[in-house]
Amino acid sequence: MIARKLRLPTLTAASMTDLPGSYAVTSGSTAGTTAANPQARHRVQRTKARAHYDHATVHAILDAGMIAHVGFCVDGQPFVIPMLYARDGDALILHGSIASRLVNQLGAGIAACISVTHVDGLVLARSHFNHSANYRSVVAFGRATLVTDPAAKADALARFVDALIPGRAAESRPADRNELAATHVLRFAIEDASAKIRNGGVKDDAADLALPHWAGVVPQRSTYGVPEPAGDLDTEMALPASVRALLETNGISP
Ligand SMILES: Cc1cc2nc3c(=O)[nH]c(=O)nc-3n(C[C@H](O)[C@H](O)[C@H](O)COP(=O)(O)OP(=O)(O)OC[C@H]3O[C@@H](n4cnc5c(N)ncnc54)[C@H](O)[C@@H]3O)c2cc1C
Repeated sequence: MIARKLRLPTLTAASMTDLPGSYAVTSGSTAGTTAANPQARHRVQRTKARAHYDHATVHAILDAGMIAHVGFCVDGQPFVIPMLYARDGDALILHGSIASRLVNQLGAGIAACISVTHVDGLVLARSHFNHSANYRSVVAFGRATLVTDPAAKADALARFVDALIPGRAAESRPADRNELAATHVLRFAIEDASAKIRNGGVKDDAADLALPHWAGVVPQRSTYGVPEPAGDLDTEMALPASVRALLETNGISP
């Protein structure tokens, strides 16, 4: 899944913070604008009713996700690379090998754009044109900086593990000095962000309602399967609390 093994530290006292407020397009956000395109870069142009800029909505979508698609440009060549992330207040924590081109470019502070998406359902209409999907997505603009302080790096990596599965950092070994040295941790500060949410039912044209075609929504959700212990695990070892809680939340019996 990730380029290097993850062995991470115990979660320290620092905790995720939720900042009240908004990434509002009216709050003087001019980054990314030009004379030819004076619109704030994160202003949703189409189906504006689905747009949200408040921290609570943007953060909730980010917190429900795990994979970010990280976009950036090097010498005019765009790249979009999938990565794990954890949110910390108004920033996203990313990590990777010190050998990673992606991580090094981002750490140099180039402009980046990160997108996170959840699909909640298939929207099946009577016409091809009105087929759609229910979704929650975020597009965030900003720049990353390298976290260099070893304690802050260790803390960020612990957040990472707990973002994957809450409580797991305390159930596994913290990174040692060599592992910390081999890993870059990035703090991507969100400058502007928008959320877009489509929910609800089919929006068929009135003229199509009498057509003999089924219409409706097929909900979609991702879930977990029954855990598969490592082949070399002590067979007496019970499932840890983090995994039991995850399964319980998802209605799965181990
Ligand atoms: C779900 C998921 C989570 C991940 N989480 C992390 C993470 O947290 N940290 C991390 O460092 N890496 C993560 N990776 C791996 C990451 O996507 C990159 O492969 C890795 O960071 C190396 O990036 P690079 O630019 O240095 O690679 P390079 O090898 O320099 O990239 C060269 C080229 O290889 C191709 N390439 C690179 N990555 C991928 C890919 N994932 N899929 C298809 N083609 C690719 C692209 O064409 C790219 O331009 C994750 C991958 C996935 C699928």
